[in-house]
Amino acid sequence: MKNRFAIAIDGPAGAGKSTIAKNLSKKLGVIYVDTGAMYRAMALYLIREGVSAEDAAAISEKCASADISIAFEDGVQQVMLNGENVSGLIRTEEVSSMASRSSANADVRARLVVLQRKLASEKSLVMDGRDIGTVVLPGAEVKIYLTASSAVRAKRRYEELLAKGEQCELAQIEADIIERDHRDMTREISPLKQAEDAVLVDTSDMDIEEVTKVLMDLVEEKCG
Ligand code: C5P
Repeated sequence: MKNRFAIAIDGPAGAGKSTIAKNLSKKLGVIYVDTGAMYRAMALYLIREGVSAEDAAAISEKCASADISIAFEDGVQQVMLNGENVSGLIRTEEVSSMASRSSANADVRARLVVLQRKLASEKSLVMDGRDIGTVVLPGAEVKIYLTASSAVRAKRRYEELLAKGEQCELAQIEADIIERDHRDMTREISPLKQAEDAVLVDTSDMDIEEVTKVLMDLVEEKCG
């Protein structure tokens, strides 16, 4: 295997990217970088600043004063916002919705892409997001586009929430997922799409172990 390598995993919400990326990074002994958490931390900052998701000028202006970085605690990524660890505050519906809107902003993306590229220039990693194989790390050694039907993705999210004891409705979750995907896929800058040289893996009928195995085989094939 090369001295330093990057594995890029892109795909829509709920396709299993973070679970699979974590598994791969453990097996390969490299770090896992969740770029969605960075967009979520930025969204939390904008919410706290009272910025409207529709106000592009305010988003561009305010995002310049958000210092987002990541740290690792026992190998687990922690996302820091102006020195505060906000990892536990970014998984709410409010933050998801703001992240999916503010991530369409060029200034927001420019700030976070610099950080993502810097991380990849320092260490081997598995990085997941929406534009990793297409824009952030076009030279990544392995590119995977992980997807599943919206019904399957909604069901997985629904079961996760139920397990946490949260009240939710399956139909509403699916509608939210479809809306977020549409926004991510149709935005002007860095839309979610499969890179030409990415391998498509549809996980609708696969469990986590099967997906991990398929991806590990791909990594071995491409990185040797
Ligand atoms: O992956 P996650 O659902 O945590 O991402 C939250 C939001 O951040 C996505 O809906 C997407 O709009 C945005 N995002 C992005 N580019 C990335 C990662 C996430 O635009 N590389």
